Amino acid sequence: MKVGILGGGQLAMMMIQSSIEDNIEFIVVDPSDNPPANKYVKCIKSDFDDIKMLDKLSRECDVVTIDFENVPSASLKYLERKIDVHPNSKAVEICQDRLKEKELFEECKIPVTRYKKVDSLDSLDSSKKSFSNGAILKSRFFGYDGKNQVDLDISNLKTAFQTCGGSKLIIEEKVSFIRELSLIGVRDKKGGTAFYPLVENKHINGILHTSIAPYDDDKLQKKAQDYHNLLTDKMNYVGVLVIEFFLDNENKLIANEMAPRVHNSGHWTIEGANISQFKSHIKSVTGENISNIKVDKCAAMMNILSTMPDLTTLDIPNILKIYDYGKTEKRNRKLGHITIIDKDKDKLLNRIKVLEKFTS
Ligand code: AMP
Repeated sequence: MKVGILGGGQLAMMMIQSSIEDNIEFIVVDPSDNPPANKYVKCIKSDFDDIKMLDKLSRECDVVTIDFENVPSASLKYLERKIDVHPNSKAVEICQDRLKEKELFEECKIPVTRYKKVDSLDSLDSSKKSFSNGAILKSRFFGYDGKNQVDLDISNLKTAFQTCGGSKLIIEEKVSFIRELSLIGVRDKKGGTAFYPLVENKHINGILHTSIAPYDDDKLQKKAQDYHNLLTDKMNYVGVLVIEFFLDNENKLIANEMAPRVHNSGHWTIEGANISQFKSHIKSVTGENISNIKVDKCAAMMNILSTMPDLTTLDIPNILKIYDYGKTEKRNRKLGHITIIDKDKDKLLNRIKVLEKFTS
C-alpha cells in the first residue's frame, strides 16, 4: 500500500512514524526545502498544483491524503478522477472557507457563533453595529493559529479590514466562552466511526499552547460525537476530522471551526491512547476498518513555540516524550511539543504548571 501525502510538516511526519511498522510506503510532497517529514521519507519538492507531480502521485499511489488543509482543492479534484483521495476535495473545500463551514454547521443544526459575511468596508461598518458584545473579523480563507483575524474592539475598522485581506471576510460575535474543547473523530470507508475523548485546549494569542485530555463530561461527549457524525455523513468523509468548540457558560457547545486532518490537539494520542490519531487516519484512508479507541490515563501536550528551550536540565517525572520537528526557530513557529501522562489529573496539572515556565 502506498500513500501520498500533500504537505510534509510535522503532521505528515507523525503519520509516517505511526505506520512504518505496518508496511505502508509514503510519497510526500512539499514546496519547502527540508520539511519535517524528510526525516523519514525523501520529500518531493513541488508546488501542490504541479500537474507532473499530481500525475506521478496518481500513477504510484493507492490513495492521497493531506497534512495541510490549504492544498488547492482543484489539485484534489484532479487526483480524484484517477485515485482515492481522503478526505475528499469537497470536504476540504468546505473546511478551507469559514463561511461554507459555518453554513454546513447550520445545515446540520450545530450551534455556531452569530456571524455575517463582509465584502466591503461599508458592509463591515453596518454589520459591526449588530455585534454589541464584541466582534472578531476573520478572513474566510487561510486563517489558522489566529492568523488573518482581528479583534474589532481594539482595532480601527479600516486597519482591521485591510489586515484581514480587504475582501472575502466574515465578522463574528466574540463568545465569552468558559473553555475551548476539541473532538477528534475518525470515519472509515464503511461509515464506521470512533472517537477520542474531548480535549480541553488553551490558546495564547490565538495559537494552541496546551491540550489536556480527557475532558470528562459524558453528555458533552455524546453531543459532540453526534455533531461529528452529522458532519462526516453529510460530507461522505473518510479519515480524521477535528471539530473545535467553544463551551459557553450554559455548558453549550458552539462550533468554531473544523480541520479535515489530524490535529495539534491530538498529539497526546501517540502516548495516551491505544491507537494514535495518526494511525487511525492512515488506517481509515487505506481502507481498513477503524479500531476501538481506548484511553485509560490523563495526558497533556504542550507546544514548543518560537525557540527550542533547554529541557535537559528539567527534572519532571513522566515527561514522556519531547518532540523536536527539526525546524529553524522563528517567532510563533511550532518547533516541537512535549507530552506528559499521569493516571492522576491533579498531578498532571501540577506538572503542566512547571513546564509552562519553559514553553511560554
Ligand atoms: P480560530 O482561528 O478561529 O481557531 O481562532 C483562534 C482562537 O482565537 C480561538 O481558539 C479562540 O481562542 C479565539 N477566537 C476565535 N474566534 C473567537 C470568537 N468568536 N470569540 C472568542 N474567541 C475567539
